[in-house]
Amino acid sequence: SLTLGIVGLPNVGKSTLFNALTRNDVLAANYPFATIEPNVGMVELPDSRLGRLAEIHSSEKILPATVSFVDIAGIVKGASEGEGMGNQFLANIREAEAICQVVRVFADDDVVHVDGRVDPLADIEVIETELILADMQTLEKAIPRLEKDARKDKSLADSLAAAQKAQELLNSGKTLFSQQNSIDLASLRDLHLMTTKPFLYVFNADESVLTDDAKKDELRAAVAPADAVFLDAKVESELLELDAEDAQELLDSIGQTEPGLHSLARAGFHTLGLQTYLTAGPKESRAWTIHKGDTAPKAAGVIHTDFEKGFIKAEIVSFDDLDAAGTMAAAKAAGKVRMEGKDYVMHDGDVVEFRFNV
Ligand code: GDP
Repeated sequence: SLTLGIVGLPNVGKSTLFNALTRNDVLAANYPFATIEPNVGMVELPDSRLGRLAEIHSSEKILPATVSFVDIAGIVKGASEGEGMGNQFLANIREAEAICQVVRVFADDDVVHVDGRVDPLADIEVIETELILADMQTLEKAIPRLEKDARKDKSLADSLAAAQKAQELLNSGKTLFSQQNSIDLASLRDLHLMTTKPFLYVFNADESVLTDDAKKDELRAAVAPADAVFLDAKVESELLELDAEDAQELLDSIGQTEPGLHSLARAGFHTLGLQTYLTAGPKESRAWTIHKGDTAPKAAGVIHTDFEKGFIKAEIVSFDDLDAAGTMAAAKAAGKVRMEGKDYVMHDGDVVEFRFNV
């Protein structure tokens, strides 16, 4: 499923952040009948376009897209050797689509650091090393088997070459995600390697770092191509208790223009390679989650599988064109509404009405 697994060393603020993710009432408000695992937290993807769509269509309600995070039990040094929660940890992480590491940047003498120092890049390396070691173990078992099979089945040559290349990269201490330009990650898919997953880093910081652009740029550069989010997990959970005005005041006091959960939602979406398209009517204005590159029938299938099977065509206007025109009728009159067929590749912000057979 499309979730990011939250990992991190002990005492970095994972539970604090996760509590904020589970208490933000997304589910209660919009999905009253959903049953959700206790270790899953959700956050809405902020989208100002939905408010405008609801205005244009006099929609009763707005349903933003959501991003899910699953809390994965703590990692410790030696996890790849099955120490502590190790094996369970690795099994859980395999289930997640992407890895979201919470990294401590805040200084607080009352909160013990497992290694006795606050050093974000060293913490990142500890986790990376465990994941790299686990992947190396997987490959050590898989490669001899692949070699044997490839002798009989020539079509496996590419998979074998990719596995060997992966082993070489891991041996040099690199995650496969960070090396995606030099290795074909798709041909490794069957091996379920953990470091091929996209990474996202959440730097749990206090005001001194949140307002220090140079420091943030430095950390951002250190983790690229992974996304980096900077927030104060303690403040995020406090924000949920406050009314809008007090929340804004608290954000102002730490030099932030929006809650960190908003940037986390956007980064999570980006890390998972997702985008949204929009539907609008009197009942609701809604954002739907699809992968970048999805075609119109695939997008229709997110609403209902019958929509995909019976897809005929999609009536599409870009949000910007609809916004400028002011009404659907005006957008049509201006020639901005297109009919697209089954090969159409969706764009972020397409406002869509599907035509289908049932
Ligand atoms: P976990 O072990 O990674 O789940 O960490 P916790 O969320 O339990 O946090 C460990 C301790 O650090 C708790 O006492 C939190 O209140 C505190 N903490 C978490 N985030 C922050 C933060 O941003 N700033 C400060 N000063 N303390 C924090």
